[in-house]
Amino acid sequence: MIARVIVDVPTNQTNRPFDYLIPEELTEVVDIGMRVIVPFGPRKIMGYVVDIEDKTEVEKVKPLEEVLDVTPVLTPELLQLGKWLASQTLSFYISCLQVMLPQVLKAKYKKEIWRMEEHLPEELEHLFQGRDVLSNEEWEASPYKYHQLKKWVDEGSLDVRYEVKSKETKRKITVIEPGMDERELEELIADIPPQAKKQKALLDFFIDYPDPIPKKDLLTQVGTTDASLKPLLKKGHLHSYTQEILRDPYEGHTFDKTNPPSLTTHQKHAMDRIVASVKEEHPDVFLLHGVTGSGKTEVYMQSIQEVLNRGEEAIMLVPEIALTPQMVERFKGRFGSKVAVLHSALSAGEKYDEWRKIQRQDVQVVVGARSAIFAPFKKLGLIIIDEEHETSYKQEDRTRYHARDVAIQRAANHGCPVVLGSATPSLESFARAQKGNYHLLELPERMNEQAMPNVELIDMRAELHEGNRSMFSQSLKEKLDERLQKGEQSVLFLNRRGYSTFVMCRDCGHVVECPYCDISMTYHRKQEQLKCHYCSYEKPMPTECPECESKTIRYFGTGTQKVEEHLQQLIPEARILRMDVDTTRRKGAHEKILTQFGNHEADILLGTQMIAKGLDFGNVTLVGVLAADSLLNLPDFRASEKTFQLLTQVSGRAGRHEKEGEVVVQTYTPDHYSIQLASTYDFEKFYAEEMKYRKMFHYPPFYYLTLVTVSHPNTFQAQEVTRKIAQYLKKNLSETADVLGPTPSPLERINNRYRYQTMIKYKAEPEQHKFIQRILNYYENDMKEQNGLQITVDFQPYQLM
Ligand code: ADP
Ligand code: ZN
Ligand code: ZN
Repeated sequence: MIARVIVDVPTNQTNRPFDYLIPEELTEVVDIGMRVIVPFGPRKIMGYVVDIEDKTEVEKVKPLEEVLDVTPVLTPELLQLGKWLASQTLSFYISCLQVMLPQVLKAKYKKEIWRMEEHLPEELEHLFQGRDVLSNEEWEASPYKYHQLKKWVDEGSLDVRYEVKSKETKRKITVIEPGMDERELEELIADIPPQAKKQKALLDFFIDYPDPIPKKDLLTQVGTTDASLKPLLKKGHLHSYTQEILRDPYEGHTFDKTNPPSLTTHQKHAMDRIVASVKEEHPDVFLLHGVTGSGKTEVYMQSIQEVLNRGEEAIMLVPEIALTPQMVERFKGRFGSKVAVLHSALSAGEKYDEWRKIQRQDVQVVVGARSAIFAPFKKLGLIIIDEEHETSYKQEDRTRYHARDVAIQRAANHGCPVVLGSATPSLESFARAQKGNYHLLELPERMNEQAMPNVELIDMRAELHEGNRSMFSQSLKEKLDERLQKGEQSVLFLNRRGYSTFVMCRDCGHVVECPYCDISMTYHRKQEQLKCHYCSYEKPMPTECPECESKTIRYFGTGTQKVEEHLQQLIPEARILRMDVDTTRRKGAHEKILTQFGNHEADILLGTQMIAKGLDFGNVTLVGVLAADSLLNLPDFRASEKTFQLLTQVSGRAGRHEKEGEVVVQTYTPDHYSIQLASTYDFEKFYAEEMKYRKMFHYPPFYYLTLVTVSHPNTFQAQEVTRKIAQYLKKNLSETADVLGPTPSPLERINNRYRYQTMIKYKAEPEQHKFIQRILNYYENDMKEQNGLQITVDFQPYQLM
């Protein structure tokens, strides 16, 4: 038999299966989707079996060395999905297979053979000699063959496990249980000599509690030590065995069981439509549009329940940042131990354990961030993507996939619906719903019949004219003071990234934009030039505002730390917590800050993006947005959309409970449609307005985009290669495609590498992938070295920096 193997060597030449002979003793063992070790040139490397055949074209076929798995880690469906992903993103097949698996399976590991039963068959007992774990080396030295191991694993006597080197991935405990029934125990106790008090107490314990109990707990409860336990084990009065503990990241939490409320008419309508598709096994895509608090999550949960009732499984994606303890609690409270949770705050070992629960079919629901879309379920009945507009669903390195596309592909494989939910759908999704490609479901009302909080727009130009040069308007300061007096809390939001590059007139709010691309131009300090990062149009930095001739035109932006200092000066008695990349670098820091704030150890929470989502504190009655403009003027065609989404989202943070909330938005452009319409929560009008610009300037959803980014330590090299690529594409693509650039990327230099880009806007280019593959092949040798050329291609760019 021949195994066809995709090897872990991500290059063009190795981007195909290689044939290996399956040795006699492994024929019963090797299966499609397993990891194997194969000889490859002088090395031994890891690979995935993607096919098994009975013949090969290769003349001298080498045998494979070793099988790493007992059960396949990739299902046939996931292998197929990997192939699709590779063709969609122009990635190597191996990278696409790797991206679906937990880190632990890709790391350096130590293979071990574990005892799963107290009494093993005699031959094994001889080998284990009372131990619980054998190293793989010991196993190899034994007379047993791999197929015998597999038989024992299938029978439940043994298990094969991987221990990541230098890191503990498995936890085990010793469990004690009685070796006889209650009557026998009582007889035995009567016979125990009176001086063996502790032994007697241990046996007594099991009269009341005959169930297995962790040894540690037993000893503390009885108040004794190993010394008195040992003789009882030896005589067989009690038994002990080892149990693997799948680490539960939520250990110690108790989740109160919740019951599903009866749905409102709108909710019921939405759910009926979803469940009908589940039952018909139709891969329909639904867009569930409803503001925060309109009851979307409840619809998800009750739909999932229907899926579970059918014996099927469900994936629910939420953005990393929204995967808060509150969210987890809701799902655990409803579905109990049927839920696995996958997010990046878990350690590699914890993630692996959660993944194993899915693989072993211990759970039927997974709630997780982006990569949970690859959960190895076999009977998917429903996929949900909450906050579908979030750009974190797009993977931004290696295989640049979008979880939404993967979801739709998997749904087609399984014949199950996809639900995309959002208060502010992406324009792409809403446009598809308008065209009828997706089914639109609306939840127009908030659950508690509370209106969304009132939004006050503050014109910072007017503040300036009144002599207030600080970054806090008079009104915001008063409202903050008021909250302090009432013992209520406030959240202040500042959009800030490590750079701030646009130029704005503080007098009139005018921002310099590219006349061709409708994005803000970027200030380059060195050349005193303004540049458009899409089309490379340039002009000199103005010394006065082209609109109002004021001299207060300059670039814009302040860091959170500076804002914190100003705020502390402004309101010295306020207790302030700051949450940004600097204060949340350490694991758990994010949760800690939120817990502190939740316990009212601070009056004001000041932060970036991070605080916009998932916060749910009853005592927060004021949300302030310090500078809406800094988001609105990013050099990104989605800047208006992002601003609308973010303002809507932060507003949802105020007045979540009994106390009414309000929102203050400070801006130099209060008349901008995305700020105006966010303040009245008018998504449809925003959609209509924004679509006009997208159409006019050839952006999604009217056009598709491809972004090619070239980087090199030498700026001329980077520029020259980009120029050649752009030229080649211009020549080969159809006339309707716009090829823009080359132009420096907005982040022109990262890690001492210069970055240039070219952007393609197109309607339909069926041969685009082919041309770009040719470009990548052409430059492959130049891209081999760490310090050399790098070309990345993004077929659905969200990060345009
Ligand atoms: P969303 O996901 O749209 O923000 P949720 O599903 O979280 O909305 O609902 C908002 C609040 O209303 C939650 O506290 C939820 O428990 C509650 N809720 C949702 N649906 C119902 C219902 N049918 N009856 C009673 N309470 C509900
Ligand atoms: Zn001006
Ligand atoms: Zn331009």
